[in-house]
Amino acid sequence: MSAVQHSRTAAEHPVSPALRSRLPQVGTTIFTVMSALAQQCGAINLGQGFPDFDPDPKLPEAVNAAMRAGHNQYPPMAGVPLLREALAEKIEALHGAAYDPGEEITITAGATQALLTAVLAVVHPGDEVIVLTPAYDSYAPAIALAGGVARFVPLDAHYRPDFDAIAAAITPRTRAMLVNSPHNPSGRVWTAQDMQRLGTLLAPTDIVLISDEVYEHMVFDGATHHSAAAYPQLAARSFVVSSFGKTYHVTGWKVGMVAAPRELTREFRKVHQFNVFTVNTPMQHGLAHYLRTQPEAHLNLPAFYQAKRDRFRAGLASTRLRLLPCEGTYFQCADYGAVSDLPEAAFCEWLTREVGVAAIPLSAFHPDPVERSTVRFCFAKREATLDAALERLARL
Ligand code: PMP
Ligand code: GLN
Repeated sequence: MSAVQHSRTAAEHPVSPALRSRLPQVGTTIFTVMSALAQQCGAINLGQGFPDFDPDPKLPEAVNAAMRAGHNQYPPMAGVPLLREALAEKIEALHGAAYDPGEEITITAGATQALLTAVLAVVHPGDEVIVLTPAYDSYAPAIALAGGVARFVPLDAHYRPDFDAIAAAITPRTRAMLVNSPHNPSGRVWTAQDMQRLGTLLAPTDIVLISDEVYEHMVFDGATHHSAAAYPQLAARSFVVSSFGKTYHVTGWKVGMVAAPRELTREFRKVHQFNVFTVNTPMQHGLAHYLRTQPEAHLNLPAFYQAKRDRFRAGLASTRLRLLPCEGTYFQCADYGAVSDLPEAAFCEWLTREVGVAAIPLSAFHPDPVERSTVRFCFAKREATLDAALERLARL
């Protein structure tokens, strides 16, 4: 067959190249799956975590103003300096930690990109990374993409860190550890004592801490968020990750940040510049302006979300759902064992289709196939949405 004949045949019958998946265990994220099902069924979506209300109008106005002022081309690779400076001041005021905005703070395309980039920056093939389970669903794939090995350590029965189990999981190959407080999905918040114990445990090691603190401003009942940034022993080895999406009710903007000592940041930026290079300019200017002009905006969040938590919990109190404690985040977990024998994913599908409320199965956060009859609801919703959902859930 001539080359010309061959190419004509190939063009007429195109064949996709055979692939070996980089992530063979991974499907579409549960958040996308449940949001699609909720939409298809016309269910109230308490699954994927996002607010159904608008941000403070001053924030989009600041972004519009930035666009009109011509902030529409690439910003510096690490992010708009004004935003990094505002963040350095905020972190210093909150946690007493001095980060150099030039060399120690980087703006990312949301926390997901920050977490993946941090993992890619430090984890080599074969390195082990400790992950406390249940865990946010991006952690294990991020480790896999780096060629690392996730060492899953279960949180205890109350979703608190089990330091003996963590200590037992550390090996000479442990390169990093991922922690998340306030914790998605359980809503647990680590205490000062937890942070100190972690600091003591990691002190004699070279383990890098990746501290996912996206719910940093959603902590209830007078409790405090304990950032890794506030503990010098931890800060010296940590990537501290946060997300503007959570704090300012703009999850779709996908802007986040990482604070880390300069040696860690240097490696982070090597990956960041070839991953996204940088993050959209007008959003960063808008956020910088908002942080400067509304520096106390985040102070309202605990009371704002605590009222929603309390409304939602009170509404569920008369059902057979058993509510787990919720110390922080905008998630409420519930045990439905008294309602149904279905496995978690099947229960969530039934709840969405038949009751008209979408939730997330906890199994999506667990590497093991164990069923715990527990689901997660997001209460970052308008009162009317919560009340409508509660009316439907009342039959449980
Ligand atoms: N970490 C946790 C624990 C989360 O719950 C989320 C998202 N909700 C993220 C990271 C990702 O945040 P972002 O949307 O900024 O990528
Ligand atoms: N973090 C959000 C949650 O836990 C979802 C984000 C996403 O859909 N990737 O619900």
